[in-house]
Amino acid sequence: TSGLLSGKNILVMGVANDRSIAWAIAQSLASQGAKLVFTYESERVQERVSKLASTIEDSVVLPCNVTVDEDIDGLAEKLKAEFGVLHGVVHSIAFARTEELEGMFVDTSRDGFALAQDISAYSLVAVAKRMYPLMTEGGSIMTMTYMGAQRVMRNYNVMGIAKASLEASVRYLASDLGQYGIRVNGISAGPIRTLAAKGIKDFNSILKQVEEKAPLRKTTETAEVGDTAMFLMSHLSRGITGEVIYVDGGYNIVGA
Ligand code: NAD
Repeated sequence: TSGLLSGKNILVMGVANDRSIAWAIAQSLASQGAKLVFTYESERVQERVSKLASTIEDSVVLPCNVTVDEDIDGLAEKLKAEFGVLHGVVHSIAFARTEELEGMFVDTSRDGFALAQDISAYSLVAVAKRMYPLMTEGGSIMTMTYMGAQRVMRNYNVMGIAKASLEASVRYLASDLGQYGIRVNGISAGPIRTLAAKGIKDFNSILKQVEEKAPLRKTTETAEVGDTAMFLMSHLSRGITGEVIYVDGGYNIVGA
């Protein structure tokens, strides 16, 4: 196939169902000829992810729970054996306990804080650490973040702190890996109704706010994020690293 990403092997982590942002990203990457490797968190979602992946020609599906170092080691080994070279990594993974996504942030527990950091921020570092040695032709790593990293958003709480840590990790990783021709960036998406968003209290009122106040007067669609991810994976973005790009209809620029 011809396309901006033909000949590129790209790892896509974080598909849970057809509403997942990672799934929209996969569609955009596949449309430009990328060869995709999907990972799934647990057996609970294996069948669903495999079924979705089967609609994309030549794609591969492998297990990887990002809280388990051995899983990420195993993934890197399989990728090396099967493809040799990796060109891109899409990290679209986050988790916090539902009870920590409401009420006051000040009530956050020690282990709830650590869990959100581990899955939502450290996992990018853990994955980058194992994958960059496979990116011998240079490449692009990207993750998904949210404005709650920069500003206080009601109920986002502990996840906002995890996203702040994730965005800082993007900058430090970009600084480390630039010498190998590897770029690291984040996309800060506007609110989208997905499985992960279900955990956030009053999500509907957040969507309504965006519709009313965003310059584009609409909520963010996953396909818009997918196309920006495709740009970040392609040579078109070759001068960009350590950056967080907002795909939110412009909502983040609006004051009171
Ligand atoms: P989603 O629920 O479809 O995706 C979250 C993914 O994280 C799932 O595939 C889940 O399996 C995976 N995951 C969780 N724990 C894991 C683990 N231990 N190991 C491996 N995978 C694990 O929801 P989504 O909205 O598509 O979320 C994707 C990313 O986008 C997240 O980082 C989220 O914070 C971010 N984001 C979402 C929104 C939104 O409004 N939906 C906005 C901005 C950023």
